[in-house]
Amino acid sequence: MINNNNLASYTKIVGKLELDKIHAEAEKLSGKHILCINSTYQGGGVAEILNSLVPLFDQVGVDFGWRILHGTPDFFTITKKFHNALQGNRINLSQRKKDIYYQTTKRFSTFTHIDHDLVVIHDPQPLPLISFYEKKQPWIFRCHIDISEPNKEVWNYLKAFIQKYDRFVVSLPEYKKEDLNIPQTVIRPAIDPVAVKNKPVSESKISKFLEKFGVDRKKPIISQVSRFDPWKDPIGVVKVFERVKKKTDCQLVLLGQFATDDPEGQKVFQALEKKVDKSPFKNDIKLLIVDNAFLVNCLQRASSVVIQKSLKEGFGLTVSEALYKETPVVASKVGGIPTQVINGVNGFLHNPKDYNGFSDSIIKLLKDEKLRTEMGKAGKEHIKKNFLITRLILDWLMLLNKELSENEKKLSSNHE
Ligand code: UDP
Repeated sequence: MINNNNLASYTKIVGKLELDKIHAEAEKLSGKHILCINSTYQGGGVAEILNSLVPLFDQVGVDFGWRILHGTPDFFTITKKFHNALQGNRINLSQRKKDIYYQTTKRFSTFTHIDHDLVVIHDPQPLPLISFYEKKQPWIFRCHIDISEPNKEVWNYLKAFIQKYDRFVVSLPEYKKEDLNIPQTVIRPAIDPVAVKNKPVSESKISKFLEKFGVDRKKPIISQVSRFDPWKDPIGVVKVFERVKKKTDCQLVLLGQFATDDPEGQKVFQALEKKVDKSPFKNDIKLLIVDNAFLVNCLQRASSVVIQKSLKEGFGLTVSEALYKETPVVASKVGGIPTQVINGVNGFLHNPKDYNGFSDSIIKLLKDEKLRTEMGKAGKEHIKKNFLITRLILDWLMLLNKELSENEKKLSSNHE
């Protein structure tokens, strides 16, 4: 869902000073035309960010275009395998896979004209595009994945494309790569506090809206909101819930959706359904496949505890979303999660395989309302300070200005 919020509506959240900084940086980009390309407009964190960020650029007068790479199911199966391999999985990197990857992006380039002042490419799907253009402007590669321990073969294959770019942008300092010889920058993702997904909602509206999807609030809710993806470990969430349920009464809601560039979703969902069907607590487990930002909002607010049991996580916007709504989060100590969850302050962190650790923390929170309230407040403050979209747009504006001015200097020294 495109969020067309007025920039002024952020003033009461982040203050006028922050907005003045944004306007000042945006002004320097006046007359410039920026383009970004990714591979889906819905589903997953990248689309979520772009749906808020792109209209905000427009609001501050920056001409910022967004295009989506076209691909076949075969192509997206291959790029998901690359994604999984970048997060450490094994892969059979056949010539066929490389050909489909390369040719699909090549084909897209034949009908995608690029005459912009700067290009930002998100994630590996459109990465090879740079090979098919006469490079007239800076190109930035923005990778959202946890690439701290990639499969070496895939990394080396993709690295050859990345080296053609002017800059590599990652979500955490740990994701910078020593074997890349281009500049690298860390930009942490962020959430949009006035978007439908995160805006304040009254208690009565929350209950009413959840009822539409068959969720009542009679028992405390624990939930995970995530694409159905093996990395999000939804079956692990059910296992944790079963442990919790033996000690205290509650219900589990798993809300998910499928992203158009992620073909694994159906399989993961079917396996999850089987697991739930066999669970002695299946009557208290609700699986929802609905693409609805307001439902995410209501569920994260209604939950006593939000879980994020990822095995790997580039950043994990869902964690910031829950914390901003004053809901404590019990999550895996992986990837971008520990920058958001401060263990013992706004939630608890555990090794993803530590089912008992997860369930003990959830039980502790379910039994202690005061702790939940304290952690909830701390969570909101942490996100407000560090992970709101106004900080993200400022980071991007500064980076775009820096890249363009360095490029101009390069061009003028070439002419001398
Ligand atoms: N999301 C959603 N509905 C769902 C599941 C996920 O709107 O049923 C959203 C979620 O609220 C978040 C994004 O998809 O904004 C997921 O981003 P995250 O960084 O957590 O994970 P990714 O999917 O990018 O791995």
